[in-house]
Amino acid sequence: MKTAIVTGAARGIGLATTKLFVEEGWQVAMIDRDAPALMEAKVPGAFQVVCDVSDPAAVEHMVSDVLERSGRIDALVNNAGVADFGPIAETDFERWRDVMETNLDGVFLVSQACASALAESRGAVVNIASISGLRASTLRVAYGTSKAGVMHLTQQQAAEWGEHGVRVNCVCPGPVRTKLAMAVHTQDIIDAYHDAIPLNRYGSEEEIGNVIVFLCSDKASYVTGQVIAVDGGFQSTGIGLP
Ligand code: NAD
Repeated sequence: MKTAIVTGAARGIGLATTKLFVEEGWQVAMIDRDAPALMEAKVPGAFQVVCDVSDPAAVEHMVSDVLERSGRIDALVNNAGVADFGPIAETDFERWRDVMETNLDGVFLVSQACASALAESRGAVVNIASISGLRASTLRVAYGTSKAGVMHLTQQQAAEWGEHGVRVNCVCPGPVRTKLAMAVHTQDIIDAYHDAIPLNRYGSEEEIGNVIVFLCSDKASYVTGQVIAVDGGFQSTGIGLP
């Protein structure tokens, strides 16, 4: 059975994506560092492995564990992420490091650990960045910079792993009402997004997950190295981030 690893799967976009993979007949390894939330997020057809994606030893252990249980890795969704709001002057180094460790180091570590299994299965990777990585804003220095790094890493992975048949793409979600977003989106930001997004609304977790699952499927067999905004058209307007 085709197996996908989804990081940050205990809730939000990762949990919705897990359910969509299962509906398509995949087995899913749900990865998250929040053990109680992960254990609560039971999805028939999926199994859970607690792991902090920013910890190199834990990542090695997690990938061996998944391979022991499934024998293969056909898709990797690097979705685990943390948000941060703040301009340069107000971003202390500890917070900067914390964001980079999960959002950028985590993508590097999990991808590197899965590389040979993905080459064996001629699999696919989807890295989750953000519209915040596509444009500068005065509020998101650490988050936006980490997500811009994820886009570059995607192109690097696609260039390196194409010869093994491994496809690597990046999805940039627009705003979705998850715990991560709603912890930092004030009513002013919500209203500004509604005005600026051509579809005039936030996206749902499933609307992001559908594109992720498509990119991991054989239907996307000639798509690699791409950065795809799933944002109700926000990126196409050129309007600055609220
Ligand atoms: P969420 O907070 O609902 O879920 C994120 C999950 O990642 C949580 O379960 C959390 O425990 C887990 N996680 C965080 N750090 C981890 C680590 N080091 N190791 C393992 N697990 C870790 O957030 P979400 O909105 O579903 O976000 C998913 C992804 O989508 C993130 O990469 C985020 O940056 C991106 N994104 C979200 C939005 C949005 O508006 N929600 C917009 C753009 C991009």
